[in-house]
Amino acid sequence: MGPSSLRKQKRPKKEKGVSKKKPKEAKPSGASKPTPSSKARTPSTVSLSKWIPIEKNFPLPAYAKEAIASLTEAGFSAYLVGGAVRDFLLGLPIKDYDLATDATPDEVLSLFPSALGVGKAFGVMKIPQENGTMLEIATFREDAEYTDYRHPKSVRFAGPEEDARRRDFTVNGLFYDPKTRRILDAVDGFADLQAKKLRAIGDANARLKEDALRVLRAVRFSVRFGFTIEESTRVALREHARFTRKVSAERVRDEITLMLKGPQPGEAVVLLRELGIASLWIPDIAKVKSGVFAAMERDPSPRSTAFVYAVALSEVGGEEPEKAIQGAADRLRLSGEEKRRVMDLVGNLPKFKDAFQMREATLMRWVSEPYFDELLQLHAVVVQAGDGNLMAGRFLEKLRQDFLSSPPAERLVNGSDLIALGFSPGPQFTDILHTMEDLQIEKKILTKDGALEYVVKHFVR
Ligand code: ATP
Ligand code: MG
Repeated sequence: MGPSSLRKQKRPKKEKGVSKKKPKEAKPSGASKPTPSSKARTPSTVSLSKWIPIEKNFPLPAYAKEAIASLTEAGFSAYLVGGAVRDFLLGLPIKDYDLATDATPDEVLSLFPSALGVGKAFGVMKIPQENGTMLEIATFREDAEYTDYRHPKSVRFAGPEEDARRRDFTVNGLFYDPKTRRILDAVDGFADLQAKKLRAIGDANARLKEDALRVLRAVRFSVRFGFTIEESTRVALREHARFTRKVSAERVRDEITLMLKGPQPGEAVVLLRELGIASLWIPDIAKVKSGVFAAMERDPSPRSTAFVYAVALSEVGGEEPEKAIQGAADRLRLSGEEKRRVMDLVGNLPKFKDAFQMREATLMRWVSEPYFDELLQLHAVVVQAGDGNLMAGRFLEKLRQDFLSSPPAERLVNGSDLIALGFSPGPQFTDILHTMEDLQIEKKILTKDGALEYVVKHFVR
């Protein structure tokens, strides 16, 4: 992180809340959407907000600058929120620029006619940008009453402090006002950011119960930033791990996938196990040696979803490993294609030990499989955590390279040739084609005439 930028700040002064405007009610519509609350906003009495001046420049792309200008010129506030503010303060690259405002979704729409209202019921408008990204402009809101461990039943438009307090972790609850170059901190997130602490906003138990996906977000953020998890948040995480079962498996999978594809899969796995999340979602990961994840961390090549789950399931074992893999893949809602790839990878891993005994045609056929590059990658990380013997891997890697660099050879004998010789399709037909291919791969027969002669001699009666 960029601690200098954080340390440079003077001790923040305490100020009273800043929201002056009377909050407006959300008017969501549609059956599955949250229903508007009829209650008036409870006045903010919780903690005092701080305004913290920031010296360093917030890097803003032109589209974000323009959107902020449009909102402020129309008399609305426009703050950067969430991940962008956190990553800016940490000195990390900013992924997306989300804005929060006191303009209602309809007011946002009138300023930005191209805004998409998919999240309008929650006060979120998305504005497509020329570079393909979306700028999110969300109306300050508070969430009322969660019912399904994930979604609020209703939302109520509110002020920035309420909007900060509905967020998950203090370091994600900071607002940056580009006009005055100050951070609005209603949740003591700035101090936590400096102390590298991940802390739930408010009562950790209540916040995790509202939305159990936060359990996984906590793991992801703490690993990604090297933050320690504040004690009461950690206790609550352990307590609420089981509620992740109530969240859609796809969302859970996406979070776990991000962690396994990220730069510190090993730490993520340790934490997932420690908090009792791994045992619910991917228990077999506990059998994988920690050295495997350490080897993954050293390997800079990108990891596909199938690859990371093949690693996680590489020690699945048992009487019916295939069934176990299928079960795990289904629980995590992997796609059919990903599931097949995981099976290919895990299923083929034991074959490396036989590589030097295989006949050439079998080897060449094997290295031509589309999964083979990932299989080499998997073998490399598994071996590094074991006996470290990469001989078979290197040998096969060379064969794979030869296969990739040589144009595919045309078959010396094909189906029409066999039909011309009086054969008809069936098991023997396939067998002959296979044999002829083996002989061709092994360069025992080099010409078409030679191949046809061989067929006549060995198969025609
Ligand atoms: P990332 O860099 O991974 O995108 P992020 O913090 O920006 O991290 P987002 O999922 O993009 O995460 O969400 C943006 C902000 O919305 C968060 O910083 C947080 O303030 C709030 N938020 C997102 N998901 C939740 C949630 N499940 N519960 C409460 N607040 C959330
Ligand atoms: Mg984000």
